[in-house]
Amino acid sequence: MTGMAADVRVGTGWDLHRLEEGRNLVVGGVSIPSPKGSVAHSDGDTLIHSIIDAMLGAAGMDDIGTLFPDTDPSYCGADSAELLSQVFELVAARGFHVCNLDATIVLQSPKLGPYKAAIRQRLASLLGVEPSCVGVKAKTAEGILGELGTGSAIMAQAVVLLGT
Ligand code: MG
Repeated sequence: MTGMAADVRVGTGWDLHRLEEGRNLVVGGVSIPSPKGSVAHSDGDTLIHSIIDAMLGAAGMDDIGTLFPDTDPSYCGADSAELLSQVFELVAARGFHVCNLDATIVLQSPKLGPYKAAIRQRLASLLGVEPSCVGVKAKTAEGILGELGTGSAIMAQAVVLLGT
């Protein structure tokens, strides 16, 4: 093989939040009408938190909890989309761009199907890519997996590929 291989870096992220009545549910920067929402120091956007960790992991940087500690009052109620923008800038400053992103959300209810296009669009604009570079899958927990199955928790995992 001749020439130089493209410098690409893969990263994975995972996040979980408890859900309670009377809280807001924000997924991928999109507000979802729901009787239950995330219990969190920030806005509890589980999907964006998993994407942030995937981006930081790919860039060889610290994780979300180190960068935005939940003991820091300035992140109380923080807009996770704004945190993702900050991470995008940090990663871009190291010479990386996002090649693509793929993510899965596990949420028993409400069903996220009607919101997937809006979530893809929002994430694409935050990451400077076309929506075709953003994969968003939503699944239920099939009523099992403990608190995920009873609708008392939301989980997300993400894979991000960065290129130079
Ligand atoms: Mg989180």
